[in-house]
Amino acid sequence: MRLRHIPGAEQRIEESVHVVREPELCRGRWAEVFGNGNPVYMEIGMGKGRFLMELAAANPEINYVGVERYSSVLLKAIQKQEELLLPNVRFLREDALELPQMFGPGEVKRIYLNFSDPWPKDRHAKRRLTSPRFMEVYSQILAEDGSVEFKTDNAELFAYSLESIPSAGWRVVMETHDLHHSRYAEGNVMTEYEEKFAAKGNPICKLIAVR
Ligand code: SAH
Repeated sequence: MRLRHIPGAEQRIEESVHVVREPELCRGRWAEVFGNGNPVYMEIGMGKGRFLMELAAANPEINYVGVERYSSVLLKAIQKQEELLLPNVRFLREDALELPQMFGPGEVKRIYLNFSDPWPKDRHAKRRLTSPRFMEVYSQILAEDGSVEFKTDNAELFAYSLESIPSAGWRVVMETHDLHHSRYAEGNVMTEYEEKFAAKGNPICKLIAVR
């Protein structure tokens, strides 16, 4: 997701209490950041943060970290959090590749990847968030019994992920090619992209992977 450049976005992110500055210093200390030892769930490529904040409001006993590398998009999430002031939400303006510098082994319990950029060209495959390169990154920070949950409407990216994830040593324990009309539909929280694509009639695919 890319939005028009917003003047002053960088500075507003710099100053926001909802964005963790110098997250490298939090490595191994996220319980201190949140002020409790609750499990940490993370969305990588959070966009405007609707999914993350809806989950956070419904599950106060879980801590949520939203990771987004583009300032303009992150700013929308910050604005929403400035109204909601959810105590169990923090944001990181970072690239997912850097996460092992910010989270120790096992510090994250669940990772959500929602409507990640498809990068359709073969030569860009390693930029996909479900590529073996990124699965290795998640392995470094995820608890042993942790999981990755991935949703997309992009059939090619989903087919790719069903191969790339096992090739990285993970097990796909749940998959559906039409989430909204499956037995997994109940309790599904929609993301911004999900609502847009589902309204167009695109079936939504979902998988859950563990090691
Ligand atoms: N999850 C949201 C947004 C999907 S768009 C939704 O479902 O509505 C994908 C988002 O992932 C974009 O905002 C993009 O900036 C972000 N993104 C892509 N690669 C990333 C990376 N390596 N690290 C952090 N964010 C990334």
